[in-house]
Amino acid sequence: AFDVLVVGGGPAGAAASVYAARKGINTGVVAERFGGQVLDTMAIENFISVPYTEGPKLAAALEQHAKEYDVDIINVQKAEKLIPATTPGGLIEVQLASGASLKAKTVILSTGARWRSMNVPGETEYRNKGVAYCPHCDGPLFKGKRVAVIGGGNSGVEAAIDLAGLVAHVTLIEFDNKLRADAVLQAKLRSMPNVTILTSALTTEVHGDGSKVNGLSYKDRTTDQIHRLELEGIFVQIGLVPNTEWLKDTIALSPRGEIEVNARGETSVPGVFAAGDATTVPYKQIVIAMGEGAKAALSAFDYLIRQVPV
Ligand code: FAD
Repeated sequence: AFDVLVVGGGPAGAAASVYAARKGINTGVVAERFGGQVLDTMAIENFISVPYTEGPKLAAALEQHAKEYDVDIINVQKAEKLIPATTPGGLIEVQLASGASLKAKTVILSTGARWRSMNVPGETEYRNKGVAYCPHCDGPLFKGKRVAVIGGGNSGVEAAIDLAGLVAHVTLIEFDNKLRADAVLQAKLRSMPNVTILTSALTTEVHGDGSKVNGLSYKDRTTDQIHRLELEGIFVQIGLVPNTEWLKDTIALSPRGEIEVNARGETSVPGVFAAGDATTVPYKQIVIAMGEGAKAALSAFDYLIRQVPV
């Protein structure tokens, strides 16, 4: 059995495995896709101390760093079920889709999240070529340009406020007939001079010139008319979905499906810790996920040294 089994090989899982392995304890990582969301990222400019890198490069470095240590990396395997220990301090089981089962004294859950996409023509084709999901990451790439934000919930309206300070013009597009964001955010947005708000508008297509975005079409749901906007960027803010569906019967999750953790990364199940985008910790970013992964590993180690020897 492992001392620490990390489930998920993104920034949080990689950091957790390095921190655990450096304690000289038996560490494993099981991941569906080592690297996680970083693999889908182009330019990364906010990974502090590295002014510029690219997703695939950082993902390779994460794996290389884990491999510097005696970490058992089990890649391209999906965890399907978590079975808590039956006795205090007993072994926790993680069952894989392949039918295999892994046992560990502690488990760190770092299965990350995925952005909900619009599923319209052009969105996938122009991903990272004008279609973006993270204003903190990609906002500065659109300095002085025209962008749209899709989604009028809190994250969409926050993104629009954030971007309005950087870009030439922001069009916020909401499907419903009203915004759902907090009133104070809506008031702030409405006070900004370079913002247009469209409600009852359904985005129908992303347009581009073959290499980058140059517009989008939306349907006015009150008239069924299709309109076209000329712009350079589209930020999709219609939800970040944590990869925690497989945990809902065993671990306490927030109403949004995030794993509830305390300041030490502990979950509702003894010996099970969690870190990164899959958790309730706010602001989904690489540096934050790494810090949380390190913290969860140290908490797991602390848990292990407190177990009464048998
Ligand atoms: P993830 O990176 O999501 O990794 C999750 C891991 O868990 C993966 O290995 C996955 O395969 C695995 N997994 C999931 N489910 C299972 C399962 N059931 N069994 C086994 N394994 C599983 N952040 C920045 O700081 N700067 C940026 O510039 C930036 N740009 C971004 C651009 C894009 C397009 C996207 C999508 C995100 C960007 N982010 C950026 C956000 C950043 O990528 C995430 O905050 C970070 O990757 C979260 O790390 P994580 O380890 O928690 O999860």
